[in-house]
Amino acid sequence: MKVSLFSLSAVVALTTLLVPASHALPASPSSNNVVTFDNHRVVRIQLRDDTQLKTLTANEDALAFDYFTHHKVVGDYVDVRISPQNFAKFQALKLEFTTLIENLQTVIEQEKQENSAYQMVFNAQLEESKKLNNGSPRILANGVTLPAGAEIYATDTWFQGYHSYADHQTWLSTQISANPGKASGFSAGKSFQGREQAGIKVGTGPNHIVFHGTQHSREWIGTMVVEYLIDQLLKGTDSRVAGYLQKYTFHIIPIMNPDGFVITQTSNRMHRKNAQTNGGCIGTDPNRNWGFKWGTGGSSSNPCNEDYKGPSAFSAPEAKNVADYLSSLPKVVSYIDFHSYSQLWMTPYGYTGTRPATYPYMSGLAAKAATALRAVHGTSYRYGDIFNTIYQASGSSVDYAYNIGVGAPFAVELRDTGSNGFSLPANQIIPSGEETWEAFAAILDGIQV
Ligand SMILES: [Zn+2]
Repeated sequence: MKVSLFSLSAVVALTTLLVPASHALPASPSSNNVVTFDNHRVVRIQLRDDTQLKTLTANEDALAFDYFTHHKVVGDYVDVRISPQNFAKFQALKLEFTTLIENLQTVIEQEKQENSAYQMVFNAQLEESKKLNNGSPRILANGVTLPAGAEIYATDTWFQGYHSYADHQTWLSTQISANPGKASGFSAGKSFQGREQAGIKVGTGPNHIVFHGTQHSREWIGTMVVEYLIDQLLKGTDSRVAGYLQKYTFHIIPIMNPDGFVITQTSNRMHRKNAQTNGGCIGTDPNRNWGFKWGTGGSSSNPCNEDYKGPSAFSAPEAKNVADYLSSLPKVVSYIDFHSYSQLWMTPYGYTGTRPATYPYMSGLAAKAATALRAVHGTSYRYGDIFNTIYQASGSSVDYAYNIGVGAPFAVELRDTGSNGFSLPANQIIPSGEETWEAFAAILDGIQV
């Protein structure tokens, strides 16, 4: 059922004016420990020749570049966050750049403020929902007992804003308990700090598909889009869904890197890695830590860099657990690792430019996905193998998945193309979900089993 108390947009507009950013969700337990990004710029650097590329990479450690995109190749551009302390030194390099974001903290504050307003509405609707049926659990015609407040978790209201880690866990457990016989829960394992990599299993088919969001924790849209796909599979209003649930079994983990996700909500919005401490800096990049061709280029040995590969392959439990989970399934026909941003639908390999034997099959599926996606809202995605189309990256999840025999692994970079960093405005969650669902359906229609 639809719970509608008042106009969401009107309340958001009002509360945006009234709510100070410091009250915004996610709240920090200790505001003293919150990392801020005042006057940090995000710049787009054009790499016209090899000299410029070498200048960039020779200075990336000294100037503490935080790469927001990773296509460090001649003839392309790369987006980098630069602190105000290092900006003059960066200018002295005389690289060609444009400024995408003048002050990253402003973007983060805006996101917090919008989310705070949204959370007031969401929580009010949740409380109203709990009062339905005089506060007693609702028992559906099929005998299922809905947890109090379950209605609100089943509406589109959920997709109108971003959510705390705890709320994501509640959303997932509610979907599982409200759909017995159709869905069940699982965990791929525990994170470094002991959080479950919680997932939902949907469908009964012999062909398994695994996908997840937020391997990189700051890429929040990944989790929201993955949850949108879960919602579509569970609601089954799409006439194609029944066929998908017979052909496939889906194993879906909305938050693959829960420790990092909590860090982005409590102390550092720009945290990308997991929570393992290495040489004084926090985090291994899980997506440079998978155990196939680990450390063979396109990853960093510097523990303070955002693409730090870790001390050894699979030292990050988050990567190891999902790898083991993939290996435990009998026939995995696809695996999708959702990231942001850049609007790319990518296939293996990342570690080498030599294309795998089944590249035509995989790129054919990626092409279909991009076409179906564009038809929904006109959003343009590029597609192809990671190394040749985008950038070199070793130790990635899709290279590993391909190597263990997964038929069609994809790394997807969702919206947008750089205007908002990782703070994609919440009004783009549903359009992102809608278009990604069509791309996903094109993959499901095209997979050869
Ligand atoms: Zn990512």
